[in-house]
Amino acid sequence: MGTVPSALKHCLSYQHLLKEQLWIVEPAAPPPAAPHPGQGSPGWASGLPDYIKIVEVGPRDGLQNEKVIVPTDVKIELINRLSQTGLSAIEVTSFVSAKWVPQMADHNEVMRGIERYPGVQYPVLTPNLQGFHSAIAAGATEVSVFGAASESFSKMNINCSIEESLERFEDVAKSARNMNIPVRGYVSCALGCPYEGNVIPAKVAEVSKRLYSMGCYEISLGDTIGVGTPGSMKRMLEAVMKEIPLSALAVHCHDTYGQALANILTAIQMGVAVVDSSVAGLGGCPYAKGATGNVATEDVIYMLNGLGINTGVNLYKVMEAGNFICTALSKKTNSKVAQASFNTGTI
Ligand SMILES: [Zn+2]
Repeated sequence: MGTVPSALKHCLSYQHLLKEQLWIVEPAAPPPAAPHPGQGSPGWASGLPDYIKIVEVGPRDGLQNEKVIVPTDVKIELINRLSQTGLSAIEVTSFVSAKWVPQMADHNEVMRGIERYPGVQYPVLTPNLQGFHSAIAAGATEVSVFGAASESFSKMNINCSIEESLERFEDVAKSARNMNIPVRGYVSCALGCPYEGNVIPAKVAEVSKRLYSMGCYEISLGDTIGVGTPGSMKRMLEAVMKEIPLSALAVHCHDTYGQALANILTAIQMGVAVVDSSVAGLGGCPYAKGATGNVATEDVIYMLNGLGINTGVNLYKVMEAGNFICTALSKKTNSKVAQASFNTGTI
């Protein structure tokens, strides 16, 4: 089991889970054995991937959308704690202008302050060539570009058309290729836009294909405002999968309408094996006041553990990192799993 987080030692719900539901909490449970014919079986689950990679986006996507500006040393401590959980990718910051995103103004200090653990990638967001060069100067070894499937969102969010943004990303991708730096591509508004409403799957497929063609090794399809459902997720993925290999796709779900886990399950049933999530569900939704933001890493891992899917990530260590950042921000966790485990100790 590894070390029990100190915050959980006296928690009855933790002890309960430990005694009775080991299958849920073990981080690397093997897939269930093939059932005998005629037995009640998890047959619907047999087509799921054996391993899902979790991309932790809390320190960037999460903290960028929190109201308060988090002190640099708290960010560094959070990232160091996350590095010890078994996560293999942690998006740490964004090299955008501090004028636009003051929460990420300390990107150089964060990059230089974190401990780099072997086997962990630390991608950073780079909107243009200038950001890319600053990121490399600060020691980045992987970058992400952030495009959109909605014209209005692109104009409002990054102040240019989709086409202009893709041209900027081409420059980033070309420089990255010359330096052997992997580039990840985001497509935001993949299931809906705060300004345009519905976004057609063909548009998501088109932008994804452009990013993939310019050399992005992975395309993360973002339900930026969390309006998607398993139905719209399925239709969108069907369109994108015609253009891009499944092995190069990731999903990035927000839980604004409470659909994130269902949407993720739909995606992994279709073969997607990379899922973005945010510790403690950090980050709100700038388009729906008070609404939940990113799906919580703890909740994703809990679901995947229950399905017998290996993530290599220790749920309790993530919960402890979540507890650390929520305490530092004086906020309540958005993870249902953490709420249940931390708050029921007095029953
Ligand atoms: Zn997000």
